[in-house]
Amino acid sequence: MKGKKLIVLGSVNVDHILNVPAFPQPGETLSGSNYQISFGGKGANQAVAAGRLGANIQFIAAVGNDQLGKQIKQQLQEDNIETCSVSTINGENTGVALILVNQQGENQIAIYAGANSAVTPEYLLEFKDDIIHADAILMQLETPLATIKQAAKLAKAHNTQVILNPAPAQKLSDDLLKHIDIITPNETEAEHLTGIKIVTEQDAHHAANVLHDKGVTTVIITLGSKGAWVSSSGVGELVAGFKVDAVDTIGAGDTFNGMLVTALLDGKRLNEAVISAHAAAALSVTKPGAQTSVPTRKQVDEFLQLQGK
Ligand code: ADP
Repeated sequence: MKGKKLIVLGSVNVDHILNVPAFPQPGETLSGSNYQISFGGKGANQAVAAGRLGANIQFIAAVGNDQLGKQIKQQLQEDNIETCSVSTINGENTGVALILVNQQGENQIAIYAGANSAVTPEYLLEFKDDIIHADAILMQLETPLATIKQAAKLAKAHNTQVILNPAPAQKLSDDLLKHIDIITPNETEAEHLTGIKIVTEQDAHHAANVLHDKGVTTVIITLGSKGAWVSSSGVGELVAGFKVDAVDTIGAGDTFNGMLVTALLDGKRLNEAVISAHAAAALSVTKPGAQTSVPTRKQVDEFLQLQGK
């Protein structure tokens, strides 16, 4: 039987990743190594996480009329994602992220939105009924903001739960925040939203309260390996994460969000859902990459059992 319905609205990117000895200076050409193409975009990463972790999910997005766009759609379907609302945009490329990684592991990224910029408020109206009838909608900030605002308003007006992962970091208007039920910033994103630098638990508590005052019922500030500050209507606590040998933390937040929403739609209580999300994200950091590192639900359940949860 299919579970409660989740919509993910978000971006699709093709990541072109190149390791370089140092970042090139203006006018300089240098040779890189380990060139890789991988599928990314926060929207697609979170959709894949939810799909692989067992959600009944439909993705609203757009790809270009190119070979990679076709491959991405196929990959999404293999991860149990309904892709009738992933349109192919004629005359556009699939979104691209060009990523240089230096020897210190720092990165420089340039993005071409491509087909992602076709996800406009007008485009969204084609899928109005899907949003109205869904149980929850999960969004990030790589889609045009006007579209996110419209989706949040529409969902809220029809009791579709609105979850926003406010990444990449930026300030958001009170008019958008008042339509959000659950927000999941990391420390940097929480600082952008509230002006509070998150160092201590007390800082997280204050930042969560700023967001509650703007109308967000549930605030989950992820704190990397430490876990997350989980605050509902002003009452907050630290929910610790799991200790693992991290290989790379790319996509940890995306896996966290995909599992969190899937567990909530399965009927888990907030703290239990956060613990499941920690487990899925912890497993993801033990493997390289974003979509490639998302575990299956079986792996998450086994991990939780091993940890006595
Ligand atoms: P983002 O990836 O969005 O920057 P965080 O770094 O806060 O977000 O990580 C999100 C979640 O991923 C954390 O709340 C935690 O569950 C998990 N996580 C991140 N890094 C680690 C780590 N080194 N070990 C275990 N879990 C981690």
